[in-house]
Amino acid sequence: MNNLLPNFPPGKAAIFNGAGQPFEFISRQVPFIKAGEILIRNLYTTLCGSDIHTYCGRRTEPAQVVLGHEIVGDILWIGPAHSGKDLRGETIQIGDRVTWSIFAVPENIAAPREDMPQKSEHLFKYGHALAQGDDVFNGGLADYCVLLANTAFIKIPTSIPVKVAATISCAHSTVMGALRVSGDLTGKKVLIYGAGLLGLSCVAMCKEAGATRIGLIDTDTSRLVWGEKFGASQVYAFPEDGTPFPWQDADVVFDMTGSPQAMKAGIDSLAIGGIAVWIGAVFPDKPVQVDAQKIVRKVLQVRGLHNYNYQDFLKATIFIENNYLKYPFEALIEKEYPLDEITDAFAFASSSKPVRVGIKISG
Ligand SMILES: [Zn+2]
Repeated sequence: MNNLLPNFPPGKAAIFNGAGQPFEFISRQVPFIKAGEILIRNLYTTLCGSDIHTYCGRRTEPAQVVLGHEIVGDILWIGPAHSGKDLRGETIQIGDRVTWSIFAVPENIAAPREDMPQKSEHLFKYGHALAQGDDVFNGGLADYCVLLANTAFIKIPTSIPVKVAATISCAHSTVMGALRVSGDLTGKKVLIYGAGLLGLSCVAMCKEAGATRIGLIDTDTSRLVWGEKFGASQVYAFPEDGTPFPWQDADVVFDMTGSPQAMKAGIDSLAIGGIAVWIGAVFPDKPVQVDAQKIVRKVLQVRGLHNYNYQDFLKATIFIENNYLKYPFEALIEKEYPLDEITDAFAFASSSKPVRVGIKISG
């Protein structure tokens, strides 16, 4: 069947060559689309915080990588032996707009736990794989992306702006996972550290999940102006050393920052029986100085989450479908660049720290 693959034009990919280095552009033919695979035309990619950490050298990825894992695109070709269904069970066809999971579990690999496919051995991650030979279309900073067999993907309405749709596959899905880990939020007091896209998405999701009081804290007060628009009851600048913390009675604290100081402050903000959910610590940093006696005497729990599972991904997609007009998610992509200007885009993202920078790939 593969000989039916139309003659698509060669595609461009922006190659990351090491921290602070300019990106290199290469052009490659569309590869052979194997059984179970899908060829995507990338439309839009947003630069996630971890992409920026990689660019700045705070997080190590091998050089010669096509970065970008918050991507949205349209189906260009469906490989042979594909089920023809998305994660919802809906029939797909060429031209459908889709979002896909950041990871693909190789076929014949069992997940360590059914609810943690993202921790499977030999996991493939889009936007993190080596660009080798013709195999370069595996990230968001390229014209095409080949979805490997066994990739979870979901057909989405074209009415969702591509800027918003791109952010489903990392930020919103991870936050939806954090809400799963936090338990039922109905009537709860929730405090969120970090007012980037994760934190603002968390505010909106907590609001929709029935939290009655939602606080948002950041050191960057310019970001706090978004808090109320996403449903925060109160926003706070991170207190100076020695200043008392605004809350000591939170039922749940979420850490989106990865900052040891913020994670410690989060523990100090919890009520008896409180839960701290940590998702921000995805790069090396100093240990968190936790008072173990406080954990024990206040009967606290600390729960971590890295990435997300399929249910989180599905629920996050539905959340965005239902709420993309209710909250100003599109405005959080504060600046947009074409793919050709990707080096400038990373320089701006790392120096000016907007909530998100968007990369227009095509369309
Ligand atoms: Zn990410």
